[in-house]
Amino acid sequence: MINAFIRKTPPVTDILKEANDLNSEAKTLITKAYDYAEKAHRNQKRMSGEPYFNHVVETAKTLAELKADADTIAAGLLHDVVEDTPITEEELSQEFNSTICKLVAGVTKLGTLKYQGQKRHVESLRKLFIAMASDIRVIMIKLADRLHNVKTLEYVKPEKRKRIALETIEIYAPLANRLGIGRLRGPLEDYSFPFVYPEEYKKVMRLRKTKSKNTLKQLKKVARSIQESIIKEGITDFDIDYRVKHIYSLYNKLKRKNMDIDQIYDLTALRIILPNQTDCYRVLGLIHSLWRPVPGKLKDYISNPKHNNYRSIHTTVFTGDGNISEIQIRDRQMHTEAEYGVASHLFYDETGKPKTGGQAPTGKLSWITELAKWQEVASESEEFINTLKSDFFQNRIFTFTPRGEVIELPTDAIALDFAYAIHSDVGHQAVGATINGKYSSLTTVLQNNDIIQIETKKDTHPTRKWLEQVKTSTARRHIKQYLTKTDPEFQTTN
Ligand code: MN
Repeated sequence: MINAFIRKTPPVTDILKEANDLNSEAKTLITKAYDYAEKAHRNQKRMSGEPYFNHVVETAKTLAELKADADTIAAGLLHDVVEDTPITEEELSQEFNSTICKLVAGVTKLGTLKYQGQKRHVESLRKLFIAMASDIRVIMIKLADRLHNVKTLEYVKPEKRKRIALETIEIYAPLANRLGIGRLRGPLEDYSFPFVYPEEYKKVMRLRKTKSKNTLKQLKKVARSIQESIIKEGITDFDIDYRVKHIYSLYNKLKRKNMDIDQIYDLTALRIILPNQTDCYRVLGLIHSLWRPVPGKLKDYISNPKHNNYRSIHTTVFTGDGNISEIQIRDRQMHTEAEYGVASHLFYDETGKPKTGGQAPTGKLSWITELAKWQEVASESEEFINTLKSDFFQNRIFTFTPRGEVIELPTDAIALDFAYAIHSDVGHQAVGATINGKYSSLTTVLQNNDIIQIETKKDTHPTRKWLEQVKTSTARRHIKQYLTKTDPEFQTTN
């Protein structure tokens, strides 16, 4: 029996107070979406026994914490309406603006994808996410959605639970990482970890607990001396806090260090957040004059940002009594970027302050535009961006079977190419296609994200005309093979 723990649904004000300064129009919009979703999901329950509506409210709250714009928060509230209630996209569009509807449609489509747990599949799914992210906000909603789903994994059936947890660790968390959203990546991994590797989880938890108690005590002493020195230096506007390493990230590091916790120097770390970059280097000098740095441990990700644009200085110092501490130094904008990643580019101004008004950011929001910006930054791993820039991306589209399998095709491919991409028999016997629910001819040119079902009939077969119509070599090859076998005149004319 599930021990139902019914949480009260957070009121809309919980969402509003997390968000950017919203103008009254934005607040009205979010409130309308809140009420609409409440009505749509009324009487639906989660596996935990709590109202389904709670799930979409939590999703929206996460988006508000990321300081997403009002349309995105509203779409977060509405993200399951089309998939899980009788409401159609059309009905939704009568109530909400086209941006919101597009975001909801994007999330709904992503929901139909199935994860098969194969490496190849992981890569194509990743590419797929990217291709689908004609608007990156779709991915943000999906990540926020997934965060609440993994937070409530204990209520899900064991076999399904493991699949979701693994998928989160292999796809969603890396995606959050690539988008630079540290705020989501850590929790996505940590909530999933115990369901994928339960034994390892217990072991790492034990190790972390015993060790971090001491190191935290030590860090507090270190923090006090640093604080005094920084103030003496004339800097007053700064923050110091501690962070304990996320459990899954610790597990990965331990694996590289033979599970020896004593070799982990950043189990706990001190984080110093300063007004600007110059101060970061000043404070670094200060720290190194107080404590001797551990050789080879200084990492300047300010002058050499990570591939996800993470910037910070990490140094590890001997703090006396045989203790070693990691110290991270960054300015406010770097901190915002490390927490919110791509969201910070969309929703924050240059000073790292949230944009006011809760308006959608101006300019193109496309994923590609964002990446083009990142590309200007010197990066240590260009592999990811290169993948995106390759011809592959410019000339390929992603289409799906109704079951969510991914079929990659060239941009001018027609439905018949899709049929052959599934199987030669499907191609040979194809008579028509249902594209996004609409009956269409086999010569219809496909668009990115189309969902296609091929209609077949036993007594049909390929014709020579098909050969002129298809665009992929796979289809052409199969048709030729078929005609060679069955059409005596074919070889002479070809
Ligand atoms: Mn959902």
